[in-house]
Amino acid sequence: MSAVAGTDCREVDLHCHSTASDGTLPPAEVVARAAAAGIRTLALTDHDTVAGLPEAAAAARQCGVRLLPAVELSCRLAERDVHIVGLGIDVSHPAMLSLLDQLDRERARRAAAIARKLEHAGIPQALERCQRLAGHGRLTRTHFARLLVAEGHCRNLPQAFSRWLGTRKRAYEPARWNAAEECIDSIHRAGGVAILAHPMRYGWTHTRRRAMLAAFADAGGDAAEVSTPAVPPDQLRMVGADCGAAGLAASAGSDFHDPGQRWIRFGALPPLPAGLRPVWKLLTDARHPAARVDPPEFSP
Ligand code: AMP
Ligand code: MN
Ligand code: MN
Ligand code: MN
Repeated sequence: MSAVAGTDCREVDLHCHSTASDGTLPPAEVVARAAAAGIRTLALTDHDTVAGLPEAAAAARQCGVRLLPAVELSCRLAERDVHIVGLGIDVSHPAMLSLLDQLDRERARRAAAIARKLEHAGIPQALERCQRLAGHGRLTRTHFARLLVAEGHCRNLPQAFSRWLGTRKRAYEPARWNAAEECIDSIHRAGGVAILAHPMRYGWTHTRRRAMLAAFADAGGDAAEVSTPAVPPDQLRMVGADCGAAGLAASAGSDFHDPGQRWIRFGALPPLPAGLRPVWKLLTDARHPAARVDPPEFSP
């Protein structure tokens, strides 16, 4: 039996980060890097913020890249923290602005609580120093992890999470993210599609992953990420089958944060298994008439 060709993803990347959240490159440099690697359709998906989009849109116009306005939202689904990419959203929609404002306040609360725990452990002024390191106040755990590594409290980012910032570790503070249903609803009201991010990376069993994909579809979700970097072919087929079984379309995204992570680069995503609907084609469907496919205009 010959393998049926899937959908090529080498010119598509619908998940990456800039300095607007926890990436290390400014938005314009992320776009330029993606363009140089042959990406033609790109979504910048910073955590709970769209602050990087104006700069990215200007760079995309210069590089001839189609930039889809997007965001990666932190939320709760079936009593677990998950990330949902809102793709093709109207970033000025009141429902989206209100949700982003709530997430911003929750990030600020949690960052202050993490910093207090670090101070108790003898690491002073963590909040102020983290904000300086980030260059803004929208702190993620990645920023705290970078501070801990820079000061020699641990060797690398994974160790910062396994010793300090991961679930129930020394400086862990649970976040009170909004429900997935609410996030998906806001994405839809803003004209976008909702994609469950990196379903292979939550540490779920196969049974749990299938249940979560079904729960995501029940909550109104549209798609799940299937094509991700360096995923072995058997796992790609398995997550593709799970995604299709849940009735979801499929997305492709690298989750690029930092060129130092050499195993994550633009233009190297594997093809989607045959039979799955590519999510970027949904944006032109009648179901999402408000989704904007062209680079949006932003006022400065
Ligand atoms: P937050 O949204 O503030 O909870 O931070 C989550 C971010 O931390 C993720 O988007 C990743 O970029 C990063 N992260 C989570 N777990 C790890 C890990 N084990 N090693 C390195 N980075 C991680
Ligand atoms: Mn991140
Ligand atoms: Mn994520
Ligand atoms: Mn991400």
